[in-house]
Amino acid sequence: MTTPLTDLSPDDLSALHEQLSDEHAELVARGVSLNITRGKPSPAQLDLNADLLTIDVPSHAEDGQDVRNYGGNRGLTEIRRIFGELLGVDVDHIIAADNSSLSIMHDLAMFAFVHGIAGEKPWFGQNVKFIAPVPGYDRHFAICEHLGIEMIPVELGEHGPDVDEVAKLAADPSVKGMWVVPMYANPNGVVYDEETVRALVSMPAAPDFRMWWDNAYALHHLTDTERPPLPVLQWAEEAGNPDRVFELASTSKITFAGDGISFLASSKANLDWYLGHAGIRSIGPDKVNQLRHAKYLGDAEGVRKLMRAHREILTPKFALVDEILTNRLGGREVATWTHPTGGYFITLDVMDGTASRVVALAKEAGIALTPAGASHPLHDDPHDRTIRLAPSFPGMDELREAMEGVSTCVLLAAAEKLLA
Ligand code: PLP
Repeated sequence: MTTPLTDLSPDDLSALHEQLSDEHAELVARGVSLNITRGKPSPAQLDLNADLLTIDVPSHAEDGQDVRNYGGNRGLTEIRRIFGELLGVDVDHIIAADNSSLSIMHDLAMFAFVHGIAGEKPWFGQNVKFIAPVPGYDRHFAICEHLGIEMIPVELGEHGPDVDEVAKLAADPSVKGMWVVPMYANPNGVVYDEETVRALVSMPAAPDFRMWWDNAYALHHLTDTERPPLPVLQWAEEAGNPDRVFELASTSKITFAGDGISFLASSKANLDWYLGHAGIRSIGPDKVNQLRHAKYLGDAEGVRKLMRAHREILTPKFALVDEILTNRLGGREVATWTHPTGGYFITLDVMDGTASRVVALAKEAGIALTPAGASHPLHDDPHDRTIRLAPSFPGMDELREAMEGVSTCVLLAAAEKLLA
């Protein structure tokens, strides 16, 4: 039966509500414990890289550096060369650090607060604002919240945000930053197009305005179309704004999320600025791990091959989520969801005003969902509509059970709302 809920007669809607309540009570009674909250690689994905734990690592890098010792703040050329090629960045414009790109994003903001960027005043004490495309990545927003940065939400369209709206905001000199996940955005899978990117690197903005260009999913295609990352650093330079972009990436969802390598790609001036501060914070990154990764991955093609193996594991999970949502919610007109071609997430938009209720109902049934509102600054989803689904970690059976349960919760919350 696929009648839209809004077309049901009051009696039919009440009957459906009763049936869904019974289904939900059964779920609660079953006492399952399922979790689709975070975009973590599954054990099967981690096992793809089992050899990384046993591979022999030489003691010296190609430039003769002893990787066991201090030093080498830019990271090893071997690994920078591989990821420079993958990201379309010259090796001199990319540095390799420790296991988390999020920590570089945080440090970049902290350094700006304490020391200022490009000879400008430190941000500390100023009313600093960031443009925050929504829905977006909760941990980006958490950095802003933690540092007292005001976030200005802008709607993330099919090819990126509306550039006229962004340009208007960026004209305010207190707007100092913007979050961008240009490929397979977390959580709705949007891919920025050339027109948008060229506009973003060209628009006038404060001299210390930077875009946190988080290319966490640049290589994480879910289809055979392996589109190359857009050459944002080159376009920024061509536009006369060579310092506009801090590009970030990491191997977190390529090798081990807890034991990988992060990258910062940017202009020479930005990298010198960053290293000037990062060099006080640390005497050098974990070069043993960098060399281990370089030996293990071999070259850019080695990474692409590995990403295809990840894809084999991930695509059936995304297909399963789509299949269950289509079977259970198709034609009911209470939800829409994304069909990402890459990345780690599906965005499920439920009937306005019911996302929190769906998450609460799922929790009662032992299914942990990312909190409603997490994809918006300060957890404030004005429509109470968006739920992020992360299908990567659970096994297929667990995922199936969780998504059947979530579908019941979506329908039940909508029926409750319509009956209220
Ligand atoms: N950026 C985005 C958009 C993410 O979704 C994630 C993890 O989910 C990260 C960064 C985390 O990156 P890292 O593991 O390199 O700190």
